[in-house]
Amino acid sequence: GGQPANRAEELLSKDRKYVWHHISPHNDNPLIFVSGEGCWVKDAEGKRYFDGMSGLWCVNVGHGRESIAKAAYEQMRTIAYSPMMQAHIPAIELAEKINEWLGGDYRIFFSNSGSDANEVAFKIARQHFHQNGEPTRHKFIARHRAYHGSSFGALSATGQAQRKLKYEPLGAGFEHVPPPYCYRCPFGQTYGSCKLECAEAIEDAINWEGADSVAGVIMEPAITGGGIIVPPPEYLTKVRDICDKHGVLLIIDEVICGFGRSGERFGHRNFGVKPDIVTMAKGLTSGYSPLSATAVRADLYESFKSKEANSHFRHVNTFGGNQVSCAVALANLAILEEERLVERSAFIGQELSRRFQVLLSHPNVGDIRSFGSAIGIELVEDQTSKKPAAADKVLKVIAECKSRGLLVGKNGDTVPGFNNIITLSPPFVASDDELDFVARTVIAAIAALG
Ligand code: PLP
Repeated sequence: GGQPANRAEELLSKDRKYVWHHISPHNDNPLIFVSGEGCWVKDAEGKRYFDGMSGLWCVNVGHGRESIAKAAYEQMRTIAYSPMMQAHIPAIELAEKINEWLGGDYRIFFSNSGSDANEVAFKIARQHFHQNGEPTRHKFIARHRAYHGSSFGALSATGQAQRKLKYEPLGAGFEHVPPPYCYRCPFGQTYGSCKLECAEAIEDAINWEGADSVAGVIMEPAITGGGIIVPPPEYLTKVRDICDKHGVLLIIDEVICGFGRSGERFGHRNFGVKPDIVTMAKGLTSGYSPLSATAVRADLYESFKSKEANSHFRHVNTFGGNQVSCAVALANLAILEEERLVERSAFIGQELSRRFQVLLSHPNVGDIRSFGSAIGIELVEDQTSKKPAAADKVLKVIAECKSRGLLVGKNGDTVPGFNNIITLSPPFVASDDELDFVARTVIAAIAALG
């Protein structure tokens, strides 16, 4: 109790004593978030911040939504839990809705997190081939710089060395190819005159590994956590063709890009491809309750239906498809539809990108990239050498934003020195005035570098 300042001190001392924070190394001075409304969050000292990352790329409909809270309350009172070996109404309705958002022909398997959804995708892919006369297909190809989660399989698919270093050996059979990173083309090419060597690298990997050993290719439509790396427009169709040619499943990780972040309903829609498996989490519930899903092409499901012993998918998790989480997701998707927030997300991305163009005249801004309303500003030491900006510059921009009331992200690679991309992923409910605030604040924070 007592004054907010005293209360904040008390909470902080307990936090220091008991809580082990995610990722951030020994964070002794975390913000303690106590409430949120729309795009804004408030800390224990009563300071307000614009939530420029929507939490962790997830609170897409903004904070404090009554209809979601009501849906959770009603569901908890009616029935909060039943296992997914049987059926329940929110899961049935949500699976139908997700299938509609995907444009049809998928079966939906529910889990708890994005990592879970990817684990399920890998297991389904391997088992499918086992039961379809191609039991040697077990490998997965992913990209460097990709993040697919923290559990062993999802971390194996992740392409950031430092995240994995002290947990190895991880799952076997995960190979990585260079990302379609035009600003720092791993093949030394320039888009327009290249042959999309980045896509060809996937075919090369399949050939080198032997197509009959490869089960799937996994990728985000655009790499988000790895620093907003947006592929050339024809990259994903080329990857789709390569997968088809070699009988390899295309798994698209929509954990961040899905449900409107890309400016379309799903990020793969931006490129007009149809994945075999789609994984999703975060924006599915806007973070109001944990839930993820793995959508699998309906005909793949058929190979799990034979009456042979063990042909069913032998996977269960207690909380996956939780009734309350499914009800929350339905209320969240209703908001996205009723308020036309996918379109708003596309507008937010265009508007902020347009406003940020002036930053290219600053010597420490190397590149500005966006995928829908996921935006990255790549900081460099200078524009000619493109040397990634030193950590102190990146941290200074973040601190300047924070002191002006704006929370932004820092992404890229965990390889020392490559965590140099300032990221924004604002709630889709940001008003024009709020976007103006975000744009002005970021521009001022970068100007403060001198
Ligand atoms: N896939 C992508 C692209 C992600 O960005 C993340 C998390 O940030 C995950 C998977 C893992 O999701 P979760 O943290 O819910 O396990």
